[in-house]
Amino acid sequence: MRKLLSQKRYHALSDFLRARFGERVQKVTIDAGFTCPNRDGTRGRGGCIYCNAYGSGTGAAREGLSIREQMLAGMERLARRYKARKFIAYFQAFSNTYAPPEVLRARYDEALVDDRVVGLAVGTRPDCVDEEVCALLASYRERGLMVWLEMGLQSAHNETLARINRGHTFEDFRRALELAKKHDLLVCTHVIFGLPGEGPQEMLATIERISDLPLDGIKFHELYVVRGTRMEELYRRGEYKPLLQTEYVDLVCESLAMLPWRVVVQRLTGDPRPEELVAPEWARDKRTTLKMIEETLLSRDLWQGKYRGEPDPLLRGLPGP
Ligand code: SF4
Repeated sequence: MRKLLSQKRYHALSDFLRARFGERVQKVTIDAGFTCPNRDGTRGRGGCIYCNAYGSGTGAAREGLSIREQMLAGMERLARRYKARKFIAYFQAFSNTYAPPEVLRARYDEALVDDRVVGLAVGTRPDCVDEEVCALLASYRERGLMVWLEMGLQSAHNETLARINRGHTFEDFRRALELAKKHDLLVCTHVIFGLPGEGPQEMLATIERISDLPLDGIKFHELYVVRGTRMEELYRRGEYKPLLQTEYVDLVCESLAMLPWRVVVQRLTGDPRPEELVAPEWARDKRTTLKMIEETLLSRDLWQGKYRGEPDPLLRGLPGP
């Protein structure tokens, strides 16, 4: 019977956006040519040990594509593929609040190519979030856009953050979150499972520590090793063993059960560039991982919020709180 129902057992971004806008909304990924204080020497050099020269981006800025060109091409592609008519400009690569406010404003404005763009999502680090940045982002919300601040945390353990050379602490993250919420911004965080030195206990403790924070969204990633990173050196020397796919699936399902339903799940697995991936092999097959997560939630009768005593979304007739 349950298999016949299409609703998800977690609060998916697609459902959240459909409930807000009444139709499908797609994110267009932008590489706006920013850098990162953890790479340029301000905070650190070399960056996080899993980050390569693209800073999790498409590399479009290096290829000379303007923000406007990236938006128009992305919108056309997504309109063709999904028949989408509304879009969110997602500033993904590096730290997209790491520049003076006038530079930030010009780059964000350039993404607002026409009124099909209904939102902004800006990825950054906790140490690149201050009063001015929050006020600037809030000004777009006042113009009627949905604004998401995406802030990487990865782990709530300071020992791990030091080990992976993040250049910030959990306390920095909490301070930045507090500031962003003071400006009523929607905040999504990123968490990575399989970081060196962490076992399931530490990974789930991260989820426990963030589950009571005023977060609005979360992205889950497995740690995958890509070429040209310090993780690659560790892996090649046999000093790092990636998670198995089944271990990752278990961790995500347990985490969902721990998180409140109001937290919008924006991603359940990573998406490495195939040509850069070193390990694990299973990271190439995102579709299977997603299917395994859906099946595990179903077979174990888990749903987002279950461990908090929140009701089964299928019985409540959700999606959307
Ligand atoms: S904060 Fe992001 S862009 Fe900067 S080094 Fe780490 S992963 Fe790379």
